[in-house]
Amino acid sequence: MPDTLANLINNRFEPPRSGQYLDTIEPATGKPYARLPDSSADDINAAVDAAKRAFPAWAATPPAERSRLLLRLADLIDRDLERLARAESIDTGKPISLARSVDIPRAAANFRFFASAILHTESASHQTNLAGAGDPQRAINYTLRQPRGVAGLISPWNLPLYLLSWKLAPALATGNTAVAKPSEVTPMTAHMLSELAVEAGFPPGVLNIVHGRGASAGAALVSHPDVPTISFTGGTETGRAIAHAGADTFKRISLELGGKNPNLVFADADLERAILESVRAAFTNQGQVCLCGSRILVERSIHDEFVDRLVQGAKARRIGDPLDESTEHGALASEDHLKKVHAYVELAKRLGGQIRCGGARAQAPNDRCAGGYFYEPTVITGLDPACRPQQEEIFGPVTIVTPFGSDDEAIAIANSTPFGLASMVWTNNLTRAHTMAERLDSAIVWINCWMLRDLRTPFGGMKHSGLGREGGNEALRFFTEPKNVCIRY
Ligand code: NAD
Repeated sequence: MPDTLANLINNRFEPPRSGQYLDTIEPATGKPYARLPDSSADDINAAVDAAKRAFPAWAATPPAERSRLLLRLADLIDRDLERLARAESIDTGKPISLARSVDIPRAAANFRFFASAILHTESASHQTNLAGAGDPQRAINYTLRQPRGVAGLISPWNLPLYLLSWKLAPALATGNTAVAKPSEVTPMTAHMLSELAVEAGFPPGVLNIVHGRGASAGAALVSHPDVPTISFTGGTETGRAIAHAGADTFKRISLELGGKNPNLVFADADLERAILESVRAAFTNQGQVCLCGSRILVERSIHDEFVDRLVQGAKARRIGDPLDESTEHGALASEDHLKKVHAYVELAKRLGGQIRCGGARAQAPNDRCAGGYFYEPTVITGLDPACRPQQEEIFGPVTIVTPFGSDDEAIAIANSTPFGLASMVWTNNLTRAHTMAERLDSAIVWINCWMLRDLRTPFGGMKHSGLGREGGNEALRFFTEPKNVCIRY
């Protein structure tokens, strides 16, 4: 891994024009280990210029050739799986086993998926027949789907390469050029991807990656007049600012934002499985997944048994050095984030919540990790569903359990937050499963599972969890402009 990262602009690795850098910290140790460009609007402008110049030729490149380059990039990610997984683990604090089995393979899968999707598209056609007395009007309409230009892609720190590739792949596959701004907290694998993109042979200007802070580099990308498309994944408040900033230039914006996902467990469920998966849903990636089950609603008759077994599962998670093969629970992304998570736990205590396990900084697993940001898997009960820790996204290893007495009460609590990303339902009653799916205010409903992902399905959030959808045809539509052509005959 390099110790000084560079921007990729027009296939050249460039230092920031300002000469300013930011430190990137290894969360497991709390120590800086590399530095990244603190890019400004000047760097963004250069990247957008390069992307704009590259656009006409890339848009005209046959899909089969675009597909070949994306597949080549996927192969290079596979080749470098181990190197990328180690870098992702060091940069984020996530267990290396998770980076190796989920983050990096999924990045390769994203490129493969859209590389093949563009070879199988169809466009709509509408036959018109308005035949009237004397003047028949017959026509054929067909829809062209054309790339929109330079796509601005902004991604968060929790699944760095996975989420960056989820945007880059459909943007490039459909013939757009891209300027990506990865999270300044976790820039390493984006830098490594830029090296792989050059090696894969993408033409200059097609894929540009500019590092830096949201308020400077990110904001410059969002307000750039030559960037008609913005795809953003991150926090709800940032999404709100981006929606405002993009409105002036009528950008097409996709927003994938925060969640406070309810996980509903009914007494008729397969309890063993529900508990196992609820532990996974609450604590995977130290609870830093937008889809995490951070509110568990349990039917009253099984509540006490469920909580006891959930606590056992939480305590059993192996906290460790993220680079240790057996670690299940690594470090949080940053010191500020750890403080934020802990402040919510303190607030929960003041509001009368009972900390059933966790609730504190975890002991460092070894000397190397003495300054790391480790936090114990935490289970809280006894909180009013309307209180702040139940309503706001904590985004850490903290889950809150609340009993319910009826299906209606479960729905009322589940739908009571401003968010609407994902929900889970554990039941063996088929009618209840379908009914809950209809009634839950969330864009993704998992019945008797969690995080079972098919890349063809619509992915996103409703309410304050987002605007628009990614995945499959939704992404292909988002990154293209439909144009109707009407031919009278
Ligand atoms: P964040 O909103 O702080 O930052 C996300 C990205 O936006 C970063 O690259 C950041 O530099 C950039 N940014 C910040 N301010 C900006 C501005 N004014 N203009 C342009 N760009 C700006 O989010 P985060 O803390 O990195 O990530 C955690 C959040 O992401 C959580 O809320 C989580 O739920 C959400 N998330 C959502 C999904 C989803 O698919 N819905 C997936 C993963 C994470």
